[in-house]
Amino acid sequence: MTSSNPLLQSYDLPPFSSIRAEHVKPAIEQVLADSRAALAQLLDNPPTQWTWANLIEPLDDMGEKLGRAWSPVSHLNAVLNSADLRDAYNSCLPLLSEFSTEMGQNQKLFAAYQQLSEGEAFAQLDQAQQTIIEHALRDFRLSGIALPAEQQKRYGELQMRLSELQSKFSNQLMDATQAWTKHITDAAQLDGLPDSALAQAKQAAEAKELDGWLITLEFPSYYAVMTYARDRALREELYTAYCTRASEVGPQAGENDNGPLITEILTLRQELAELLGFANYAELSLATKMAESTDQVVSFLRDLGTRSKNFAGQDLAALREFAAQQGCNDLQSWDVGFYSEQLQQHRYAVSQEELKPYFPVNTVLTGMFSVVERLYGIQLREVSEFDRWHKDARLFEVMEQGEVIGQFFLDLYARSNKRGGAWMDGCRDRRLLPSGEVQRPIAYLVCNFTPAIGDKPALLTHDEVTTLFHEFGHGLHHLLTRVDYPSASGINGVAWDAVELPSQFMENWCWEPEGLALISGHYESGEPLPQDLLDKMLAARNFQSGMGMLRQVELSLFDFLLHLRETPDQTVQQVLDQVRAEVSVFPPPAFNRFQNGFGHIFAGGYAAGYYSYKWAEVLSADAFSRFEEEGVLNTDTGKAFRDNILARGGSREPMELFVAFRGREPSIDALLRHSGLTGEAA
Ligand code: ZN
Repeated sequence: MTSSNPLLQSYDLPPFSSIRAEHVKPAIEQVLADSRAALAQLLDNPPTQWTWANLIEPLDDMGEKLGRAWSPVSHLNAVLNSADLRDAYNSCLPLLSEFSTEMGQNQKLFAAYQQLSEGEAFAQLDQAQQTIIEHALRDFRLSGIALPAEQQKRYGELQMRLSELQSKFSNQLMDATQAWTKHITDAAQLDGLPDSALAQAKQAAEAKELDGWLITLEFPSYYAVMTYARDRALREELYTAYCTRASEVGPQAGENDNGPLITEILTLRQELAELLGFANYAELSLATKMAESTDQVVSFLRDLGTRSKNFAGQDLAALREFAAQQGCNDLQSWDVGFYSEQLQQHRYAVSQEELKPYFPVNTVLTGMFSVVERLYGIQLREVSEFDRWHKDARLFEVMEQGEVIGQFFLDLYARSNKRGGAWMDGCRDRRLLPSGEVQRPIAYLVCNFTPAIGDKPALLTHDEVTTLFHEFGHGLHHLLTRVDYPSASGINGVAWDAVELPSQFMENWCWEPEGLALISGHYESGEPLPQDLLDKMLAARNFQSGMGMLRQVELSLFDFLLHLRETPDQTVQQVLDQVRAEVSVFPPPAFNRFQNGFGHIFAGGYAAGYYSYKWAEVLSADAFSRFEEEGVLNTDTGKAFRDNILARGGSREPMELFVAFRGREPSIDALLRHSGLTGEAA
């Protein structure tokens, strides 16, 4: 059976077209069984001295085999989903999680790493290898390996219960979101909604065999009403339902209430942190991040809040004045989105629709490639023959001095059975093989852009162009690495609060006249983006950026202070109210239960880490400011960025890498300047 399973064959590029759902579980079971046997054999007869070659290389081989079987499955599950494939994929998740727990709690393996981290054995390793060993030991300790048996058991119980609670949080939020709808039969009530939103609401009604339109709490429906609906009562009703989801108040009060889960999650996280020797969960979170101390994160956020507050006040005053001119003298939370949209149209008169003809997809791709060809001295070329999972899939090679150094797949368009959003994922890591040969990295770049309509090429909005640059930035981090070891090559091993540096960094070229000249060209005339459109676009870039910045600071500070527990008796609501009193210019009504739907920190990986978005943005803006000083297409600056950041992956601490590139520690100035938050607020 295994001999015909494509996931168990050795291959260069994954054999996508021959992978079937029935191959998945047998392949993963086989690989995991092989790995367990190989690990037992490795550890049962320990050598007198563990070395990189006799410990890490065999482990990397095991990781490689698992990656080769799992990576294409995980990719297909996201881009070519089917009921069979989803079942097969889900059936493997517990197997993989069990295996990873086993590895993290393997005492013999831990002892082997420890021996390698000491004395002569360690001294002989290069810097990337030393970092990898240190990080591995850190991760063993964070898995509770050094604890006495009793506490180790408790650690396991806490992890198990937390994962249950987090999953329940997410399910209850989903159930609460789906439990409320509003059926509308009078078209006048939906006045102001764009055609696409109306079509969506109609479709939602038809799906339930209703006439008219159905408004739901799914984000696109909620967003469209809050932004465009002229009916104020409708906005208020929807706002109230949305902001009280999964709570003890509002139209579904007490059903699917996430409040008790939040309390238990926070209590257990605190216990977990203490078990591992930390004062609180915020400290535990920072153990693997770039930020050095909880004080540093809190000061960073408070400073950003203070600097943005006057600008936000100014944004709000302008909004109130504009709303009053339209007859709304008592601006409420459910009016903010609506009047903001009107004000933006009124001030800048530029729409995404107007810009699209200047961004045909191939012009954007060619332009984006020439930006990085100039910056990094590489060449990109498309490969036409390869095994595709869908006709839209494309493959490109990254060349340097005539040699292929990496490849990436590109899957640009939205379609059914494809997960939403945009992402970069590693397909294969760069690695120096024991044979001395270099294994080239391969990446997946996936977006959900609007496909071509009729005989026009696909035309991108400027937002989509920015997304493409963002993901390509992650891709270059993966592809231009020079690290020889998979645990630190590409984005592997990079701290959570630094990993968005290369991606947010690339977005800057979408806002630079020199970059725009390369990536734009009218799909019929070839004419570059006209000056007046460019001016309007640049002017609208920082619309309400003060309010936007404060909102991010509010969320980040709430998350962080909650996990810092400086005043353990405070309730979650009290922490949130205190943060709002400190940083918000327009606090929401008292019934708002935003926290009961904050899945990033209660169901996802952002607990005491939501600040990472802004943290990495400081790094990316400051890195880009060196290009502003030396020329945005300056080859020497590009080479320095590649050598010091992109090539280094997780081989050194991110602060050291940043300083090596910038010549100093990061400063917040560039981010404030790019966001229009410098000088005097009026
Ligand atoms: Zn990203």
